[in-house]
Amino acid sequence: MPAAFRQAACFWSGVADNELQLTRCTACGHITGFPHVGCPRCLAPTERVAVAGDGVITTYTVIRHWRPAAEHLPIVMAVIELDAGPEVVSSLVGDDRLDCRIGSRVRATERGWSELTQFELLS
Ligand SMILES: [Zn+2]
Repeated sequence: MPAAFRQAACFWSGVADNELQLTRCTACGHITGFPHVGCPRCLAPTERVAVAGDGVITTYTVIRHWRPAAEHLPIVMAVIELDAGPEVVSSLVGDDRLDCRIGSRVRATERGWSELTQFELLS
């Protein structure tokens, strides 16, 4: 786990377990897209929770690079509103990733080129 992200330990352990893990407030139930020790709404303690990786793209950008041989290029970075509530920023994988649009449904996948959670389009 990168030292700079120790406060996000549940996220990184979720990555190791191939789960999308976030934090949920033990008092009001608010789920945060970035792990928090205390709830940003009511300051109550949070707990680790595995959430389903389904969501919808709210915006995205395409990153192109001069190295045409890299199979993960171009990179599609997207803001994804999870069905569980919070938004996360991640990249899309799959040969059809350039077909994405605002409003496209996506699902977290283990098939990415990054060790972080990535998403693929649902058809
Ligand atoms: Zn709360």
